[in-house]
Amino acid sequence: MISIEINKSSQLKEIPNPENLGFGTIFTDHMFMMDYTQDQGWHNAKIVPYGPIEFDPSMMVLHYGQETFEGLKAYKGNDGEIFLFRPEYNGQRLNDSNKRLCIPEIPIEDFIKSIEALVKIDRRWIPEGIGTALYIRPFVFATDASLKVHPAKTYKYMVILSPVGAYYTEGLNPVKIQVEEEYVRASVGGVGFAKTGGNYGAGLLAQEKAAQNGCSQVLWLDSKEHRYVEEVGTMNVFFVKEGTLITPALSGSILPGITRDSVIKIAEKLGIPVEERKIDIHEIIEASEAGQITEAFGTGTAAVISPVGTLVYQGKEYCFNHHRIGEISQKLYDLVTGIQLGEIEDLYGFRHIIR
Ligand SMILES: *Cc1c(COP(=O)(O)O)cnc(C)c1O
Repeated sequence: MISIEINKSSQLKEIPNPENLGFGTIFTDHMFMMDYTQDQGWHNAKIVPYGPIEFDPSMMVLHYGQETFEGLKAYKGNDGEIFLFRPEYNGQRLNDSNKRLCIPEIPIEDFIKSIEALVKIDRRWIPEGIGTALYIRPFVFATDASLKVHPAKTYKYMVILSPVGAYYTEGLNPVKIQVEEEYVRASVGGVGFAKTGGNYGAGLLAQEKAAQNGCSQVLWLDSKEHRYVEEVGTMNVFFVKEGTLITPALSGSILPGITRDSVIKIAEKLGIPVEERKIDIHEIIEASEAGQITEAFGTGTAAVISPVGTLVYQGKEYCFNHHRIGEISQKLYDLVTGIQLGEIEDLYGFRHIIR
C-alpha cells in the first residue's frame, strides 16, 4: 500500500456559503498526486496545497487524450460522521477504464486511501444541507513529453475536491430532453463504457443543439441504427412502463453507472420489477402515446435522480406524468440520498465510513 507524504497549506481558504456553491467551480485547500514510471510503478504519493501545475506543451494527454477519470461524493451525517458511497466500485471502474486506454491500473486500496486521506484533511469543506456534498474527482493522465502516438510510459494520478450544491438549478423539477438522431455519443467496440474525457468532448455539439431547442440535454441513441436508447446527457436512463422499471442493458457503449446499479438493487428490494434490455425509441414513443410511460429519469452521482418531464422527438413533444416528478422517481431519490447521508438503514453495504 502507498504511503502518503503530507505538505499542508499554510494559508487556508475561506469556506463559501453553502447556498452559492454551484457545481465544480470552487476547490478545497489540498490535492492528491502520485506518479507512474515503468521502473518504479506508482510512487511519490503526496498531498499538497491546491494549485496550478506545470507541464511540457508536448504532454501526451493534451494531444491524444489518454486519460480517465472518476466522480464520487463525500457526505457528512448528522452526527458528524463522513461517508463515501460504494468507492470500491469507482476504483474498479477506473481500472476498467484504464485497461481500455492502456493506462496502468491503480490498486483499489490505494485509490480508496488517496481519497480518504484527502477528504480527511479537507473535511471542513464538506457542506451540510440537502443536495450538497463534497464532490471528489480522481483522474489519471499521460505525461510523456512526446508527440509520438503510443501508450505513454509516464502518468500522473490526481484527486481534487469541490464542494457542490444541487447539480441542476432546476432541482428535482423535470427537464425537457431532445432525442438526438444525427450525432452519437459512443459505439460498441469504442470507449463508451470507459470514463474518459473524449466521450464528453464528442458530446458537446449535440448538447449545444439541444440547448438551442430549449432542451436541457439529449437522449442518445445507438450508433448503428440510431434507434435504441442509450443514455440521457451524461446520465443513465430509466423509464417506468406499466409499473416496470426499464433501462438499457450495458452493451459496451453505455457507462456502467454506480447510481444506475444502486437504483436497480433498491428497486428490486422494493418489489418493483426491473428489466435491463434493449429499448427501441419507437417503443417509448408508442407507449407514451398509449399513456403507458408514467415516469422517466436519468441517474448519476452529480444529480442522483433527474426526472425527465418531456421528450422531444422529430419535433413532437411527449410529456410524462404532467411534467411532475413521479412517485417511483421520488421514492428512489429519497432512498439513495437517505443511504448516502446516513439517514436510513443501509441494507446493501453501500456506505463507506471514513474513520
Ligand atoms: C459517470 C457517468 C454516468 C453515471 O455514473 P455514476 O457512477 O452513476 O455517477 C453515466 N453516464 C456517463 C456517460 C458517465 O460519464
